[in-house]
Amino acid sequence: MARSAIQFQRGLSLAEFQRLYGTEEQCQAALEKARWPDGFRCPRCGGHEHGVVHGRRLKRYQCRSCGHQATLTAGTIMQATKLPLTTWFQAFYLIGQAKTGISSLELSRHLGVKYDTAWLLHNKILRAMSEREDAYVLRGKIQMDDAYLGGERTGGKVGRGSENKIPIVAAVSLNEAGHPIHAKITPVIGLRDLGGLQP
Ligand SMILES: [Zn+2]
Repeated sequence: MARSAIQFQRGLSLAEFQRLYGTEEQCQAALEKARWPDGFRCPRCGGHEHGVVHGRRLKRYQCRSCGHQATLTAGTIMQATKLPLTTWFQAFYLIGQAKTGISSLELSRHLGVKYDTAWLLHNKILRAMSEREDAYVLRGKIQMDDAYLGGERTGGKVGRGSENKIPIVAAVSLNEAGHPIHAKITPVIGLRDLGGLQP
């Protein structure tokens, strides 16, 4: 399935956010556009022709070719959610705009939901963001290298075997001119994790 992403313009004000995504209908329309930018596409057979069935909460799209019913949230992190889409969108906005991060507690206060609910939302959204990050970094021309962070303590072993150092993999994607455009640093358990990437 194609990856769908809800992205807000950088620096979108809260007032503007509320104007654009303040209602369930607006959020549904935005989600529909993100999932099917060229119109409905059946996840099972790829058909375009569809009817709409109005369910208790979200409307269902029924494929005219194979009869498959799809909801807007099926296959997304919002699948089977009991929360309104507006709550999810507010969480996307708050997490996306927080420059230094936001705690689950703050999120629960802003969204008016229980801490447990906010914690779950927070974790699902952060995981989805990091998966997108992974997908991004794997595109284009990539340079990878192993490196170590830390290990400044004296008396320990030096280099690869040092017990104080955390092995990391640094991956950098390059543009046409060979300039780095995106970097990602991932801690690894051991250098064997690098597998065939070692020279
Ligand atoms: Zn179908």
